[in-house]
Amino acid sequence: MADYYQLLGVDRNASAEDIKKAFRKLAMKYHPDKNPGDVKAEETFKEINQAYEVLSNAEKRKTYDQYGHEHYQRAQSGGGAGPGGFDFSSGFSDIFDEVFNDFMGGGRKRRGGGSMQQPGSDLRYNLDITLEEAFKGKKTTIKFSSQMACESCQGTGAAEGSSQVTCPSCQGAGRIRSQQGFFAFERTCAQCQGAGVIIEKPCRPCQGQGRVNKQRTLEVTIPVGVEDGTRIRLAGEGESGLRGGGAGDLYIFLSIKAHTFFERQAEHLFCHATIPMVTATLGGIIEIPGIEGKRLKVPIPEGTQAGQKIRLKGQGMPKLRSTLRGDLYIDVTVETPVNLTERQKELLKEFSGIGNKTSPKSEGFFDKIKGLWGDLTE
Ligand SMILES: [Zn+2]
Ligand SMILES: [Zn+2]
Repeated sequence: MADYYQLLGVDRNASAEDIKKAFRKLAMKYHPDKNPGDVKAEETFKEINQAYEVLSNAEKRKTYDQYGHEHYQRAQSGGGAGPGGFDFSSGFSDIFDEVFNDFMGGGRKRRGGGSMQQPGSDLRYNLDITLEEAFKGKKTTIKFSSQMACESCQGTGAAEGSSQVTCPSCQGAGRIRSQQGFFAFERTCAQCQGAGVIIEKPCRPCQGQGRVNKQRTLEVTIPVGVEDGTRIRLAGEGESGLRGGGAGDLYIFLSIKAHTFFERQAEHLFCHATIPMVTATLGGIIEIPGIEGKRLKVPIPEGTQAGQKIRLKGQGMPKLRSTLRGDLYIDVTVETPVNLTERQKELLKEFSGIGNKTSPKSEGFFDKIKGLWGDLTE
């Protein structure tokens, strides 16, 4: 992913107003409502939102400038993942500010009493399909295990009849202060993970997490014409959130297996066909398998040369979200006759001795290199 400034197309010293303007423009352009079904636009939309979230916040922006894109991203992805994991992304700048504030003898107000909810993670599922399946589209069932909302507590994490109470360790502050000589430190409360509240009686089946690991089965529709590397996003089908937090998304990553006969480039297909010398010379028709599973008749024009490409219009792959199809290109190899009988050899000798120039290119070729003979010693 690009640098946040590059993403928004602004200078490193752009004003807050400039950043806001740039973000608005891009957000309008890439909004999913304006680009239905466009995975790339959606991804860009997510990225610019991420960039704006950081650059629009003076503290986050300062940290970002100070530590650089990679470090910042690593720090973000390092936390908040596992159940009960400390949300490092929001704690990051707070920590530095706190240290700074303590030095200055300040003491900003902390955000306390946060939510116990945490959104669920996105999931990735790798799916291999054949070129034929990419051609026709496919309905398939995938199975995987994922964190799902606990049925006993409806995802809240609280046992029946129990509720949330103020955390006894931090008295609701979400943070615990300690003094070490000259320095004062604050850290996130371990008991409530910064939420300031805890569940009085955790639900037993999920141990207060509000979600449990379950086997899932999902029906997935692969659209006609998908390409290798396509991602399909199923919103809300990722992991359930902690204690009722929103679910993540499920991303299906499609790989298309190599085909024995066809090669694909976008909507076009390519293949090789070896044809007899006589067919290439006199013209004719050959048959090859089509991607649709039918035989295709290919007209070979008279005088077809080896390496020539024959195009069958509309016999390629379907274009995504369109009724149009690409073309099929057949790369022709001409087979020189072998295992000739004496009679056949005689006929060929007779053939080469009569009539007009049948091989203008090769005769021209020898004419062209004639000048070189003199330089050769043997
Ligand atoms: Zn439960
Ligand atoms: Zn606490």
